[in-house]
Amino acid sequence: MKITDIKATTVTVPLEAPLRHANGCHWGRFVRTIVEVETDEGITGLGEMGGGGESAESVFRAMKTYLVGRDPSRIEEMRFLIANPSGSLYNNRTQILAALEFACLDILGQKWNVPVYEILGGKLQDKVPFASYLFFRYPNPKDGSGEVRTIEQLVEHAKDLKQRYGFTSHKLKGGVFAPEYELECYRAVARELDGDSFRFDPNAVWSTEQAIWFGQQIEDIKNDYLEDPVFGLNGMRRTREKVRMPLATNTVVVGFEQLAANVLNTAVDVILLDTTFWGGIRQCVKAAGVCETFQIGVAVHSSGELGIQLATMLHLGAVIPNLSFAADAHYHQLVDDIIEGGKFKYENGAIKVPTTPGLGIKLNREKLQKYSELYKRLGSYPYDQDPLRKGWTPTIPNNRWADPQDARTPEIAF
Ligand SMILES: [Mg+2]
Repeated sequence: MKITDIKATTVTVPLEAPLRHANGCHWGRFVRTIVEVETDEGITGLGEMGGGGESAESVFRAMKTYLVGRDPSRIEEMRFLIANPSGSLYNNRTQILAALEFACLDILGQKWNVPVYEILGGKLQDKVPFASYLFFRYPNPKDGSGEVRTIEQLVEHAKDLKQRYGFTSHKLKGGVFAPEYELECYRAVARELDGDSFRFDPNAVWSTEQAIWFGQQIEDIKNDYLEDPVFGLNGMRRTREKVRMPLATNTVVVGFEQLAANVLNTAVDVILLDTTFWGGIRQCVKAAGVCETFQIGVAVHSSGELGIQLATMLHLGAVIPNLSFAADAHYHQLVDDIIEGGKFKYENGAIKVPTTPGLGIKLNREKLQKYSELYKRLGSYPYDQDPLRKGWTPTIPNNRWADPQDARTPEIAF
């Protein structure tokens, strides 16, 4: 079998409401690039990458020079061909490689008539548990719904998500407001949903002292972990000395070099594996093996997925024996998807691993067209800018927090 073509389409899919984070905001939608790898046997594989636009599409087009005419089963060779570690200074294509790896695994599963998890060693579980991902949210600019700013709104939002999807673990994305206010928010959710477990992620904008203070204030809560309270392995190591709970990261251990550094001089207890940031599902399986060897915790990170990427997270979650926590997904914040059959369904806080050949999902062409047109109309958005605080950026450690009394609605086209 040979690869004959690679196509990339940028789409934008609306969220229930704009999601606020430490560096800015998701402006009411996700922008993703959908990749299709075609073969001479009529089998097409699907991939997905965050972000998009002409530059992302042209990078995938440029990969045709490397990959057309090659056998899609030679995935390890593809890694060296387009993301050679010795050439990463000039050609760091980790995320490109990931999207193409997803597509090649999807092709091979269809060709061999097996789900991707069979290629990866076979599934150990039929469904993957997920955490509710709680964000502070601006109101939906169209109808004013969905705001999460006050403690009451946050608690209501958490209860609603638990009721709708059955989550028993809850992650609060912080780093928006001052840590004292976010501590009240986190404690209120933990109090209301007593018996569940919780995790907090301020996206590394605190000082080490703030991180230690916050960590010590929540030691009585049933925490899964405290995620990226500060930036850098050394700050994490200092925090870890004084806080009695696991620390997790998706920012400072995102490759094997950093994983090795963390093994040699431990700063982080739980590695959040991301099928995109690590360069594919197989790279994550390899990393999970290293973590198993050194008894480091593993969970699945979410970089803001549509159904294709979610399928990669499900296949990953199905095959790693040491997945010790519920996975993260932004997925429940989306209002739609580009796959056939509509969005994946949550049952009791978990999603079933697809069992049909390949990744187990098919593109809904109508939806692809619809959200590609929406992208053309709306374009990209600056992820690291807050629509109500234009020109603002957090210094690290941050001392210019948003104001929880500010009830304005941003004017965003979406
Ligand atoms: Mg994180």
